[in-house]
This record gives sequence, structure tokens and C-alpha cells, in this order.
Amino acid sequence: MTSRVVVAERVLRANDELAQGNRARLEAAAVFSLNVMASPGAGKTSLIERSIRGLSDRIRLAVIDGDLATSLDADRASAAGARAVQINTAGQCHLDAAMVGRGLDALDLTGVDLLIVENVGNLVCPVEFALGTHRNVLVASVPEGDDKPYKYPASYRGMDVVVLNKIDLLPHVPFDRARFRHGVEVLNPDVQILEMSCTTGEGLGAWLDWVVDQVEAHRALKEGRGGRA
Ligand code: MG
Repeated sequence: MTSRVVVAERVLRANDELAQGNRARLEAAAVFSLNVMASPGAGKTSLIERSIRGLSDRIRLAVIDGDLATSLDADRASAAGARAVQINTAGQCHLDAAMVGRGLDALDLTGVDLLIVENVGNLVCPVEFALGTHRNVLVASVPEGDDKPYKYPASYRGMDVVVLNKIDLLPHVPFDRARFRHGVEVLNPDVQILEMSCTTGEGLGAWLDWVVDQVEAHRALKEGRGGRA
């Protein structure tokens, strides 16, 4: 048992070192970055598509898409107008820093302001592997149920923002918003919860504003005008 724990620690430590390398590359290219995590079907790719289209006049965006197989999500990001690279994890349930490093090798970051990394759809593993990205985003959705923050606390802890997607389905699905919010806030008192529907576009403006604020704060920091790394 002990040796297994040691191996896991080694894997995570090696990953952390690679993640720091990714961060250094992003900083050198003056690119701000988000790690978008969620269970399958919560709406990560739809949120990314909406972001690419909604920010096209303000922010130049690139996407690294992680999936078990297929390039469907990167194709959608590309069709929406972003430079996109697909990483197939060949069965692995999360992206790790080495995979994101290979994604960075394949991306031209010249002129890019924001990199969005779409992690593999999974509420357990992705949060354990640092990628070198600047902020963590969790996309939850109404049909998943209001109990997910209670059932997957590790994934809700340490998030910088939680998106609650598919609010257009609230009239059709039992979902207690207060229970959901309470579960999120107990784990992460400072987190912002942004309710939206990527289908109707409701609430999307607050998300786009949050992204722009983050990119501008990062830019200000790079230019020595203060803010959070
Ligand atoms: Mg997707």
C-alpha cells in the first residue's frame, strides 16, 4: 500500500513540474489561461463556442481540447473561429501537464490573449492534475442535479468560478438552486456562481465580462500595474 502512495505522489510531483513549465511558456507569450472542467454533457464545449463568438471583437482565443477520442470538440472550437488543438488521451480520464505541453507545441500563440483548455468530461480526476493554467472553471448543469457539490467536493473546492449551465431547463427538472449554491459556497466561500444557458444565451454576458476582466487583470499585472497572478 505504501509504495503505491509513493508512486502516486511521484506522478503528481512530476506533473506539477511540467505544469510550472507550461505556466512559464504561457507567461512568456503573455497568454492568460483557463482550465475548464465538468462532467460529460454539462456544456463545456458550448460555453467555449459561445465565448469564442461572444469575445471575437475583444479577445483572441485559442483552445486545447482534451477528449478520450475524436476531434469533435476541437472541430467545433475551430468552426467558431479559434485556433484549436485536439488532444486524445487514449482512455485517460483527465488531461495532464505533459499533454497540455504537447498542445502548446502544436499551437501558434502569437497574438493570442486567452487559452481555454477543455478538460476531459469527468468530475473526479481532472482536478488532481495541475496543467499550468491560471484559473479553474467548473461547469455544472441543471440536469445533473443540485447534489453534485456535496457528492464531488474535491472538484468544487479550489474553483475560481462555477458556471451553472442549462438554467432554461429549470422549469422541467427538479433542481433546488439554494441547495446547490449552499453546497458550492460551503466548500468555496469566495467563488462566483454564474447562472446561464448556453442554449438561450441568458446570463452569458456576466461570464464574458468575467473572462474579459480576468484577461485584462493579467495584462495589467504583466505590465506592472498590480493584480493577482
Ligand atoms: Mg466537450
